[in-house]
Amino acid sequence: MAVEQTLTIIKPDGVARGLMGRVLEALETEGMKIVGMKMLQLTKRGAEGFYQVHRNKPFFDSLTSYMSSGLVVVAVLEGEGIIERLRRLMGATDPQKATPGTLRHRYGLSIQENVIHGSDSPETARWEIAYFFNQTEIHSRPLNSG
Ligand code: UDP
Ligand code: MG
Repeated sequence: MAVEQTLTIIKPDGVARGLMGRVLEALETEGMKIVGMKMLQLTKRGAEGFYQVHRNKPFFDSLTSYMSSGLVVVAVLEGEGIIERLRRLMGATDPQKATPGTLRHRYGLSIQENVIHGSDSPETARWEIAYFFNQTEIHSRPLNSG
C-alpha cells in the first residue's frame, strides 16, 4: 500500500469540549504520523470554500456557520493507506450510526457536530491539504527516519 497524506480537522465542538488531546492520542495510538498541524478559526467564507462540494446541500449554511463558530485544529497525517484508515477510525458521519469505538461514536454529538473531519479520497486529500498548508508547513520525512 502506498504512503499517503490526508487532512484531518478537529472540529469546533471537539476543541470547545476539550477533546483535542484525546483525539490526537487516538490518532497517534493508531500509528498515524502528524506531519503538520495548526490551530485556527475559519471565517464563514473560509468554511464555505472548504466545503464547496456541499454547496447545494440543505445543511450547507448550518455546516459552514458551525465550522466557523470556534477554533479548529487542522493537521496533515501521513502513512500507508492513511486516508482509509482515518475514515475507519472516525466512523460514520452520524455518530448514532457509527461503530462503537470510533471517534464519532465515542465523542460525536450529532450528524453535524461530529468531532472530526477526514479527507475521503487521494484527490480530495491533496486539495484539502493545500487549502490549509503550504509545503514548508508539512514536515514529511522519508519512511523510518523518524
Ligand atoms: N453534515 C451535516 N448534516 C448532514 C450531513 C453532513 O451537518 O446531513 C455535516 C457533518 O459535519 C459532516 C459534514 O457535513 O461531517 C460533511 O458531510 P459529509 O457527507 O462529507 O460527511 P463526512 O465525510 O464528514 O463523513
Ligand atoms: Mg466528506
